[in-house]
Amino acid sequence: MQPVVPFLDLSAMHRQVREELDAAWAGVVDSSGFVGGARVEQFEQEWASYCGADHAIGVANGTDALVVALRALGVGPGDEVVVPANTFVATAEAVVLVGATPRFVDVDPDTLLVTADVVAAALTPRTAAVVAVHLYGQPPDMDALAAVAGRAGVALIEDAAQAHGATWRGRRAGSLATVGCFSFYPGKNLGAFGDGGAVVTGDPELAGRIRCMADHGRRPGSKYDHDLVGQNSRLDALQAAVLSIKLRHLDDWNAGRQAAYARYEAGLRGSAARLVPVAPEATSVHHLAVVEVPGRDELRAALAARGVATGIHYPVPCHQQPAFEQWATGPLPVVEASAGRLLSLPMFPTLSARDVDLVVEALLDEASPVDPAVRVRRAG
Ligand SMILES: *Cc1c(COP(=O)(O)O)cnc(C)c1O
Repeated sequence: MQPVVPFLDLSAMHRQVREELDAAWAGVVDSSGFVGGARVEQFEQEWASYCGADHAIGVANGTDALVVALRALGVGPGDEVVVPANTFVATAEAVVLVGATPRFVDVDPDTLLVTADVVAAALTPRTAAVVAVHLYGQPPDMDALAAVAGRAGVALIEDAAQAHGATWRGRRAGSLATVGCFSFYPGKNLGAFGDGGAVVTGDPELAGRIRCMADHGRRPGSKYDHDLVGQNSRLDALQAAVLSIKLRHLDDWNAGRQAAYARYEAGLRGSAARLVPVAPEATSVHHLAVVEVPGRDELRAALAARGVATGIHYPVPCHQQPAFEQWATGPLPVVEASAGRLLSLPMFPTLSARDVDLVVEALLDEASPVDPAVRVRRAG
């Protein structure tokens, strides 16, 4: 059955910018400049200034953003990197790809974000960096994390792949740490028409190393001199053109998500579904609207039967994935207990108030804290 309320709908956004996009893509095709060039430079400047940072370097995707940031910081074999276990696997994958060891940690039971206390307890003499994941769209306490990382002399990295435009105490994601990493995967708050990513930093020397690293280690301004063993991770001009155009709408689109979240919050208050809250010092751009609910799997099926599409982010924590369990160091109670209760509700900029109300109504009907057997009898 076609869902009545889809989980994600990008088409209404794209209709708003379709004419501009067609013209910009035609311009790129006419120029025959597909990698690098003015379009990419323009977007990099726009993105740096949007984030409130001096430098942005376009890369091929969000995972590469993390990889080149870690490599440029000198993180590699023998180093440990602290990573919350309740994230998309790419966060941990990047750490392993540079040869370092992910050190998985637990999170705050309220916001499900990593905390300074948990990070402090996980530091060892081998810790080289900490990755703060802005899960679901809001940054964790970046001041406390920066203080812990600063005292330990380790780099703090933002995985801001879900937080384009989010803030912590008024400063935007991407400008809250040594370096900020973004994905422009189509479903992210700012999405390309394919893969894309960016690294943002205020450190000119680090920016230069990242730029060199992402372009085959090429010396700036040179064609044939390679100073580093780099890699090929570049944002292309077609994607940069899309991103420049969509960036002009990002704040409006994030506001649409914030309105939907506020309506979910009002509708679900006091119910069995606990909407993950936003910390007072943060603004969230609500990449996802996540509730914790008892009986998640049956509830999800019941919602699907009523035409409400949902997702789960993430059903299996990183440290319990076959690929990563070798780095698990012990139980992570909050991450493990919440994984079975998480449910992501429909969330996108043009989600209507009426559709939010339909989701809320379905949730209130189906998520009442009654025995599932009673619910089946009642429904029958
Ligand atoms: C999407 C995402 C990434 C990876 O981005 P890609 O562009 O898909 O490589 C990394 N971290 C988090 C938290 C993400 O949500």
